Amino acid sequence: MVDRCAVPGCKSTYYKGNQKENEVTLFAIPKTSLSKWQELIPCSNLTSTSRICSRHFEESDFKTGIEILNVFHPYKRRTLNAGAIP
Ligand SMILES: [Zn+2]
Repeated sequence: MVDRCAVPGCKSTYYKGNQKENEVTLFAIPKTSLSKWQELIPCSNLTSTSRICSRHFEESDFKTGIEILNVFHPYKRRTLNAGAIP
């Protein structure tokens, strides 16, 4: 199964199991951000099931892990910070 990025003109596709090779992660759209993102990305027909790839975000928009007692534990997948804007 191939998921596609919802941003018009973006050629990114994400093949499951191939993440390390292309370094693109597709993010589901947070419910709280959907209407804002729809304004930011016109013509994309974004819905709550759309995906947007990591290329449209800054590195600082990602959480890559969590620090517990001064030890950094990386997540298996990057997650998007709440309020991040493509
Ligand atoms: Zn994209």
